[in-house]
Amino acid sequence: MADSTFRIMDAMDALDDGIYVVNENFSVEYMNKYMKEIFGDGIGKKCHLVINSSDEPCPWCKNHKVFKNNESWSYEIFIESIGRNFSVVDHPVSNRDGTRSKLTIYKDLSHELAQKAQLKFSEDNYKRLFAHAGCGVFTSSKYGRFLDVNPALLIILGYDNKEEFLSLDLARDVYMNPTARKHYMEAIEKEGGVIDYEVEWKKKDGSIVDILLTSNVRYNTKNQILGYEGIVVDQTQRKTIENQLRKAHDFLDKIIACSPNAIMAMDLKGKIMLWNIGAEEAFGWKAFEVIGKMSIQEVYSREIAIEVMKMIRADDFGGKGRLNSYPLKFEKGNGEIMDGNLSASILYDENNVEIATVALFVDLKDRLKVERQLGEARQHLLQSEKLAAMGRLTSQIAHELNNPLFGIMNTLELMKTEISPQNKRRRLLDMSLSETMRLADMLKKMLSFSKPDQEEKAKLDINTLLDELLMLYEKRLKENSIKLKVSMTENPGIILASKDQLRQVFINLFSNAMDAMPDGGALEVITSVAGSNLQILVSDTGMGIKTEHIEKIFDSFFTTKTESIKGVGLGLSVCYGFIKEHGGDISVRSKEGKGTSFLVQLPLIAE
Ligand code: ADP
Repeated sequence: MADSTFRIMDAMDALDDGIYVVNENFSVEYMNKYMKEIFGDGIGKKCHLVINSSDEPCPWCKNHKVFKNNESWSYEIFIESIGRNFSVVDHPVSNRDGTRSKLTIYKDLSHELAQKAQLKFSEDNYKRLFAHAGCGVFTSSKYGRFLDVNPALLIILGYDNKEEFLSLDLARDVYMNPTARKHYMEAIEKEGGVIDYEVEWKKKDGSIVDILLTSNVRYNTKNQILGYEGIVVDQTQRKTIENQLRKAHDFLDKIIACSPNAIMAMDLKGKIMLWNIGAEEAFGWKAFEVIGKMSIQEVYSREIAIEVMKMIRADDFGGKGRLNSYPLKFEKGNGEIMDGNLSASILYDENNVEIATVALFVDLKDRLKVERQLGEARQHLLQSEKLAAMGRLTSQIAHELNNPLFGIMNTLELMKTEISPQNKRRRLLDMSLSETMRLADMLKKMLSFSKPDQEEKAKLDINTLLDELLMLYEKRLKENSIKLKVSMTENPGIILASKDQLRQVFINLFSNAMDAMPDGGALEVITSVAGSNLQILVSDTGMGIKTEHIEKIFDSFFTTKTESIKGVGLGLSVCYGFIKEHGGDISVRSKEGKGTSFLVQLPLIAE
């Protein structure tokens, strides 16, 4: 065979169609590769045996006509054995030796049918999608008309007649703002498409619809713009809900922000997520300083944070996930004491997983202060009543004791004149006399406590009074190795006071200070003016006052000086009574082992 013959055979083998040749005796002379793959190699066999596995010619056979009339035939057949449809073309062929053959081409229709079916299926799908899509779908021309739209788009824009809708001028009848279409076209032509493009369209009745457009440019084969196609989502409802949600959110935000109490929210690691104005005021940090930057442990302490979380998770303090009341007391960095009540609860997500903790802190500092002041006032009232009763009793006792005591003193003085100084008994007599004098002194104190001298108040310069008094103490202080430091304001102002009473007050304070420093130390007296008050600070470096005693020292008859007759426990209660009577105040600060300071405040009068 010539080369060209081989090339033709190769080409025939490469075809996707079956080709075979039979002679006038129905014997197969040639089969191409495709034919052999389907029916097996049947060269030399009867064609009906190869194609239809039958001894008889196939029922559709046109060989006779082809050979007789020398005509071509086309028809379709279904070969049951392989379950395929073929389109068949028979051609008569005249051979060089005068014989004739028939060339048949088998075109497999199964592929084509499957493709057609597939095409129809996707077309149907597309049509169904177009018709039933929940959102609007359209194609439009470049010049501003809809070419096709689905029913959903008609509903969105309130039309029921598609013809009417297709005749609309898009810029004029559909866009709320006609220039918005120009902007849309610019955007879409620049990028080839837009996603979630927000625009306001107009309903048939003129009302606004908030539209979300996702669309593409349609091009022809020459890459010229034909128009646009896209999806339209009506987001009016979504926007309304969004608006309502935003309003609700804003409302909640305002409630939280305006709450006078501190409201805070923390993530599971304690990082602060919410911090309202109340929290800013209570804790002193601004929201921008703490949100996302600080942890709640830095606000109070790690120990408190751990305890609070433990209590929230337990069942006993308001149920799991809740803590109804926790007395929160801690010292802030600036030394200020925070005192209040904390309530907290855990926030869970829809799967009941913990997501955050929200806490509310009520600052009770002011309330507790008022309560404390009220308690103190009540206590002082009680104290005054007690004092009054005690005063009456003391005054009676003092009176009763006064006369016999002076009788004893006189007798002792008389006896002293009769016993010579060298006599041993004289010393005993002196001792008895000095103790009796101390008793007399004590009686005097008791009397001044119960029935203070009703001296007229007059303008008084405190610096002079203190100078005079300190001069009297100078010797005693030196003997007791106590250094004296004095710092007096140059202009102490004027107070209206009873000189005797104030003298008594400072004598008591200096005596107590000296008693507190048996091994020496320092006594400091400072006068100053603070606002409308004159302040006198008397400090010592003595033994200090025990914490458990500090509340009681102004009580009458409270004394820790048990070892001698020196302590009657009336000194400070006399001071308190006198200072209060002057419209002033006396307070104490003390640290055990370090020392004590008494601050006396007296109201100044205009000069
Ligand atoms: P008395 O001096 O008779 O004990 P006070 O009323 O003057 O009575 O004082 C009551 C108590 O207060 C004292 O017993 C002492 O415990 C305490 N006190 C007062 N002043 C001081 C001070 N400067 N340092 C230490 N303790 C003091």
